[in-house]
Amino acid sequence: MMKNIKKDFPLFQNYKSLIYFDNAATTQKPQQVIDSIINFYTKHNANVHRGVYSFSETATTLFNNARKKIAKFINADVNEIAFTRGTTEGINLVALSWAEKNIFAEDAIIISQMEHFANLIPWQQFAHKKRVRLLIVPITNTGELDLKTYQDFLSNNKVKLVAITHISNVLGTRNDVEFLTQEAHKFGAKILIDAAQSVAHEKVDVKKIDADFLVFSGHKLLGPTGIGILYIKYAIAKDLAPVEFGGGMVKQGGFEKSTWLEFPYSFEAGTPAIADVIGLGSAIDYINENINFDALKKHEALLCSKLIDGLSKFPRIKILGPIEQLKKNGHIVNFVVDGIHAHDVAAYLDKHNICVRAGHHCAQPLHQVLDLDASVRVSFYGYNNEQEVEFFIQKIEEMLKKL
Ligand code: PMP
Repeated sequence: MMKNIKKDFPLFQNYKSLIYFDNAATTQKPQQVIDSIINFYTKHNANVHRGVYSFSETATTLFNNARKKIAKFINADVNEIAFTRGTTEGINLVALSWAEKNIFAEDAIIISQMEHFANLIPWQQFAHKKRVRLLIVPITNTGELDLKTYQDFLSNNKVKLVAITHISNVLGTRNDVEFLTQEAHKFGAKILIDAAQSVAHEKVDVKKIDADFLVFSGHKLLGPTGIGILYIKYAIAKDLAPVEFGGGMVKQGGFEKSTWLEFPYSFEAGTPAIADVIGLGSAIDYINENINFDALKKHEALLCSKLIDGLSKFPRIKILGPIEQLKKNGHIVNFVVDGIHAHDVAAYLDKHNICVRAGHHCAQPLHQVLDLDASVRVSFYGYNNEQEVEFFIQKIEEMLKKL
């Protein structure tokens, strides 16, 4: 059974009637995370890695402890995760560092039709610049990856990298990343997993997946904005040259030449987002203490089932994702309404204090494939409940009668 966690999130105390169904965009923050940031600024604020005075040492300890917690959370080693601003920056850094040195003209990169802009545009731009082929795995008519084409792409091209999402932020599809990784490795390709939509909803284990690169954002994981994680397998990270330079990453600096610290410090030039790192560490503590991933998955899938069953009664509504999969393990349900634009659906729901996302969700090419310009996305987290879904369905029914 999912524990009642809603009371831990102060935003819901301040807005009792709010129904927040936009968790794929960002999650709300528990008091514990907010307190840890306030606590840092009010009691421990100092820069890290620099001062010899005890205040700076405390700040450095808090910062380093957060890195240890976050690494453990995804079963990485502490020297395999670098702090970034988020998923987007993590992917760009892989393109600028590893890809720049290892992928050349006539090589290929595989992505999929269901990628967020963050995992599409960096590769598209890279492909243009380096004359690399970008191979795009299509989706099936149930919104899943076409695995046959994936395997064909791997066997017929010189694929150096597969960059693919764990869970689609539009369709809610959960990709079997362990299988995708095994296949990529069979052909000597590396794999990058965009875990932005999975890491808050299930145990993500970089070793079990055997990912080479894995990225996520803190703000979708109950943590603050502006902080994310770039995981790089040690065997790759140990030789990786940095792409940004400045304080905090130099081993030996001189006017003529300099040498660099090892990863992750080599990828963390300048003062890091100290309070946000500590805040993310606190989000991990909160999850470890309060969230059982099996119970969370069941709870969110139950909400998906209830929503899908409710919406399926209305012939004007079409659900876009893999319905059977979502009922088993989803947290995102996306739909369109015949005759009502997605923005108007969201605006109607907003009048009833329901927050949903409408648009192309930074996946415009996927919407082109689906022949749509926009869709409505409902995305759950553990603090949502069945009453909220019932109210949502009632409001949709009312809307369909009026519009
Ligand atoms: N990938 C996916 C699958 C996402 O859902 C998102 C956020 N919507 C991103 C990447 C980008 O995350 P961020 O904006 O935090 O960098």
